Amino acid sequence: MYILVSENFIAGLTTAPQPEGRLYGEYLPGEDVARFWEETTRPAQALGWWRQGHEPEWPEGAGEPEEGQFLALILGQEITFYRREQGRWQPQPHEVMNLYTDFGSRQQGLFDLKLLAGKRVAIVGLGSGGSLVAAQLAKAGVGHFELFDFDRLGSGNISRHLCGLRDLGRLKVAAVKDALENTNPFVEVNTYPYDITRHLSEVEIILAGCDLVVGAADSEVAKGEINRLAVRLRKPAVYGAVYDMGYGGDIFRYQPPAGACYACFKESTRDIFQDAPRAEVLDYGKIAPQPALEMDVTIIGSLVARVVLAELLAGDPLSQLERLPANWVIWGNRPWEGWIFDEPLQSRFVEISRDPTCPVCQHDLFIQEKLGLAPDEAARQAAALLASLENKRPPEPAS
Ligand SMILES: [Zn+2]
Repeated sequence: MYILVSENFIAGLTTAPQPEGRLYGEYLPGEDVARFWEETTRPAQALGWWRQGHEPEWPEGAGEPEEGQFLALILGQEITFYRREQGRWQPQPHEVMNLYTDFGSRQQGLFDLKLLAGKRVAIVGLGSGGSLVAAQLAKAGVGHFELFDFDRLGSGNISRHLCGLRDLGRLKVAAVKDALENTNPFVEVNTYPYDITRHLSEVEIILAGCDLVVGAADSEVAKGEINRLAVRLRKPAVYGAVYDMGYGGDIFRYQPPAGACYACFKESTRDIFQDAPRAEVLDYGKIAPQPALEMDVTIIGSLVARVVLAELLAGDPLSQLERLPANWVIWGNRPWEGWIFDEPLQSRFVEISRDPTCPVCQHDLFIQEKLGLAPDEAARQAAALLASLENKRPPEPAS
C-alpha cells in the first residue's frame, strides 16, 4: 500500500471547523496506491472517513467499516492513515508532497519562476504544433493561457497530438486545457472554441491582455489576422511552421514596434520557398496535416516554445535563455538536394527586414504610396465617400 498526500490536503483537514468528515481521494486497486490531494482533476471517490483523535475509531453513525476502507486520524498538524484489513485497523505509511514547491524545483536557477507564472500567452491553433507548444510552456511555468481552436480531436490527429485516444471527439481547446491542468498546478486556462476570423473584436480584447501570441493556426487567413492584431496591439508574436513531409520547419518572431511583421516576412521569403522541399505542395504555415513524423514536428514545436520563453523572460536578469540573434530560424530535419541544408539537423538564422511598403506594419506609408495621399486625407475622403453612399441607400421598406 502506497499513500501519497499533499500538504494542502492535510492543512484542509487540520483547520476544518468540524471534527470529522468523509475522506475523499483516489484509490487505484491494480497499483495499490491511494492519493489524496486537493488539486485532483479526476472525480474523487469516498474512500472512508477522517476524524480528530488518537485512536483508530470509526465515527459513530458511519455504519460498519468495510474491508479496504480508509481512516485518517488528525492530531494537531499530523495525519495518520489506517486501512481496514481482516477486520482490524492497520496503520499505513504515507508520503507528503507539496505540488506548489515541488513543481518548479527542477527549473530553479534557470529563470525567475514567479515572473513566468504571471505571464499570459494566447495560442491560436491547437494542432500537433500548438498543443505541444502549450504543454511545453505550461511545464516551464507559464501561468495563464488563452486557447483558440474551433476543431475537435479526430482519430487522424492522435499520432502527433499532445492529447490521446481518451480525448477523441472532444473540442481541442477543452482537451488541451485538461492536459495543461494535469501538468501545472498553478495554471489558469481560458478556452474559445471558435474561428478567430469571425470574432475579431472579441479576440482583440483578449489579446490586449496577453504578453505574447503564438500563431499556430493552419490557415494563412487566420495568421494574417493574428498579425494585424499583434501589430495594432504591439504584442510580440511567434509563428511556427513544419514543411512538407517534415523535412524541416521554421520559426518567425515579431518584435514590436520596429520589427518586421508576419506580412513582411511572407513577402520577403516568397522567392526562397520556390526551391523548398516539394515547393508545389508546400503550404507554408501548415503545421503538417501532410505526412510527417511526430519527432520531426516536435522539434519545431520545442523551438517555438523556446523562442516564446526567451521573449517572455527578456526582462529577467536571471534568465539563462538567450533571445535569438535573428527573427527567423530555419531548421532542417533532413537534407534536401538543392535546398539550404546538406546535412541533417542543421539550423540557420536570418534577419528579415521590414518591408517599407508592408500594408500591415507600414500602413501609413502603404496608403501614401498606393493612393498618393497622406493617411489623414485618405481617411477623410473614405469617410466622405461612405457618408455619400449612406445617403443614397434605398429607403427601408415600410412594414
Ligand atoms: Zn509588415
